[in-house]
Amino acid sequence: MSYVFNPAPTVSVPVLGSPARFPVHRIYCVGRNYEEHAKEMGFTGREAPFFFMKPADAVVVVNAGESARLPYPSLTKNLHHEIELVVAIGTGGKNIAAADAHKHIFGYAVGLDMTRRDLQNEMKKQGRPWSIGKGFDHSAPIGVITPAASAGAIDSAEISLQVNGTDRQRSTVAKLIWNIAEVIEHLSAAWELQPGDLIYTGTPEGVAAVVPGDTLTGAIAGLESIRLTVE
Ligand code: MN
Repeated sequence: MSYVFNPAPTVSVPVLGSPARFPVHRIYCVGRNYEEHAKEMGFTGREAPFFFMKPADAVVVVNAGESARLPYPSLTKNLHHEIELVVAIGTGGKNIAAADAHKHIFGYAVGLDMTRRDLQNEMKKQGRPWSIGKGFDHSAPIGVITPAASAGAIDSAEISLQVNGTDRQRSTVAKLIWNIAEVIEHLSAAWELQPGDLIYTGTPEGVAAVVPGDTLTGAIAGLESIRLTVE
């Protein structure tokens, strides 16, 4: 087998306590999955979960104890942070029942669903796809993946984001509108999940803009925290 040019390298994320890395297949994201964030975006009431995607190579790996660079993207004047719990799928499947969802989870990580909010809003207004607002290069920072067995009570973990040391977002994973198992049930009805899929499960309220020079610190109790500087 030969290729007409070298294939892109496999995107991967470090795993806590293991020399082996987690190879990324796809990145799925859940929209408006915390009530107070849905409200701040102008929506109320429980709606069926909906999904969008980012390319796998939008990942920005944040190693434990290190600070990563986050390049300020082109075209936007309103780059928003969205702190999110990321679920890493280890065993694929389709039509997975919520009761079986835990068997498919490899582990969890802290992630950021970076968003070009001005472009996303313009696309919403025009009824066009969100890709330019959500799926741009470097839009999916993620920290070290903690295997599920070591992650503690993730369903009720505190989740927070600070910018330059000041709280912007603080909530608990318990406030997910659709919990982790329900997200997997809905997602696997629409796509066959594969080992290596990452699911960004949604952000709590407090999303806001960052500018070059800002330092973001994201944390979820029981997981490795992340630190990035916007450049
Ligand atoms: Mn999000």
